[in-house]
Amino acid sequence: MSDVIVKLPDVVANQIAAGEVIQRPASVVKELMENAIDAEATKIKLSIKDAGRTLIYIEDNGKGMSPADAVMCFERHATSKLKTAADLFQIATKGFRGEALASVAAIAHVELKTKTEDSIEGTKVLMSGGRMDSKEACSMNKGTHFSIKNLFYNVPARRYFLKSDNVEWKHILEEFMRVAMVHPEVEMLLENEGQKEIHLMPSNHRQRIVKLMGNKFDEWLVPIEEQTDWLRISGFLAKPEAAKKSRGDQYFFVNGRYVKHSYLHHAIQTVFQGLLKEGTFASYFVYLEVDPSLIDVNIHPTKTEVKFQDDKAVYAILHAAARRSLGMHNIVPTIDFNQEGNITTPVWGNSEVKIPQVQYSPDYNPFGKETPKRDVVNEWLLMQAEIHAKVQSIPEQLNWKDEAGWEQSDIQPMQVFKRWVVFEYNGEMWMVDQGLAHRQIQFESWLSKDWKWSGQQLLTPFQFEWGQQDKVSLLGAEHELRSMGFDWKIEEDMVQLLAIPNVDFGWSWERQFEEIVQQWENGYERMNNDREMMAWLAAKQDAIRAGQMLTVPEMKDLVVQLLQCENPFFTPKHDKIIFKMSEKNIQQFFAI
Ligand code: ADP
Ligand code: MG
Repeated sequence: MSDVIVKLPDVVANQIAAGEVIQRPASVVKELMENAIDAEATKIKLSIKDAGRTLIYIEDNGKGMSPADAVMCFERHATSKLKTAADLFQIATKGFRGEALASVAAIAHVELKTKTEDSIEGTKVLMSGGRMDSKEACSMNKGTHFSIKNLFYNVPARRYFLKSDNVEWKHILEEFMRVAMVHPEVEMLLENEGQKEIHLMPSNHRQRIVKLMGNKFDEWLVPIEEQTDWLRISGFLAKPEAAKKSRGDQYFFVNGRYVKHSYLHHAIQTVFQGLLKEGTFASYFVYLEVDPSLIDVNIHPTKTEVKFQDDKAVYAILHAAARRSLGMHNIVPTIDFNQEGNITTPVWGNSEVKIPQVQYSPDYNPFGKETPKRDVVNEWLLMQAEIHAKVQSIPEQLNWKDEAGWEQSDIQPMQVFKRWVVFEYNGEMWMVDQGLAHRQIQFESWLSKDWKWSGQQLLTPFQFEWGQQDKVSLLGAEHELRSMGFDWKIEEDMVQLLAIPNVDFGWSWERQFEEIVQQWENGYERMNNDREMMAWLAAKQDAIRAGQMLTVPEMKDLVVQLLQCENPFFTPKHDKIIFKMSEKNIQQFFAI
């Protein structure tokens, strides 16, 4: 038999690798904006056509490239930012893999124009399908302009999997915002279809966040600060009033790079516990600076994940800082650290949040070097973090249908924290989230009702003043919302609602509109259709909430009804309703 193994030509290899780095137009935006920042640009202009399908144009006034580099930059593993393997552990710039431009050039038509300070003329390079088509001199100012045209023109499968223009545009906007939030000192301009969308002048972090998120955030932002030997935390938490129905406004940046980190998210989210209305999420903008050798950013090709050498310590410090930050603004009671034996976590019901007396000691730094006593607070926080990690790993059981004997049994449920119904059953401890349980019951009942969408004109249009994000969400859900009967017009910052669905949900559709739009963003992808979406919203009305006291018969009734549901374990958004723990699991807690 003859030999069959051949080495893939570079062009093909680049195309395959491109799929890892460039998933959608927004990935190009991210890579190119980061390159501009790495090139020390003070002004970046981004211009988009057809949600990036036809054109992504980005112009910076950074240091530019020499004629030779203007060609080199498209080679795989070509980077000016990393010279030795050891550098990998000390990365301060954003790029370093030298893959972005090679990938983009493999799957689009690229025009690069670039000029350095000291050269007289610039260089213009045209690339397509990974090959150079031409290179010539051009005249321009210092900086770099990239035009990325016809993205994925030679990768039909990728093109096919792109979402609607609105969804792709939203991803682009999100990448733009992430970069903008870390670099308030850089002037940034975003244009869509030739229209100016956002223009950001150089400013500080706070002003930039407010500019991007909307003026309301000016009152809502509360600083968070902490500094230890190896970690610096800065940024803002938003007061509970800012909480949204969507998980969108949660930003972590590690060494200037946006990252997702569900573990650290938990550190902040728990601080807000009892302060937020059910189903809402705290907003925050938190910047972490760590010695680059203590993190590994290389675990994901698009670099939105990061691994800390000591996750638990970061968790504990962040948690304490967030707590203190809210405490300083009288948002939660903090512990008076100097009073021994006074460590309690207050838990409130949602309905009646009283502002308690705060005894805050501003000088106390739980992580200071000269802590006189044992650092019990820190130990306690670390333990909590560990418990959290363990709880996460307990598998959920789904064969619940055989639990039918419940009703007849003499189980005595009790309520804890006015929030969970707890009982022992079948050798396990069950905890049922009363709010979600009731909502699930109502959800399934709404879903089984028969309703058909149609629209109804409003006599006077209903006006909203909305920020960028909400407007984009509105566009993202446009098709579904219109088919339900909604109609609207957008004028600058104002959204005018012209028509509403003609279906009785027992609420005012006008007042519900904003929430519906926000919900869409957060939940729709995970729900099956707009009926589920609306049934889930409708189910919230009159649902039992956390904080509500229940009698034993009420609790029994709730559990029985829940167990009759199609799916008693998860909400349509995949949140857990029931949590079970075996005796062994509980023993593990005590073993910590
Ligand atoms: P990386 O950013 O990982 O180094 P890229 O493929 O994104 O890899 O870029 C390759 C190289 O091209 C960079 O290292 C840099 O030297 C150069 N480069 C890219 N974009 C710019 C820009 N806007 N201004 C100046 N140089 C750039
Ligand atoms: Mg790069």
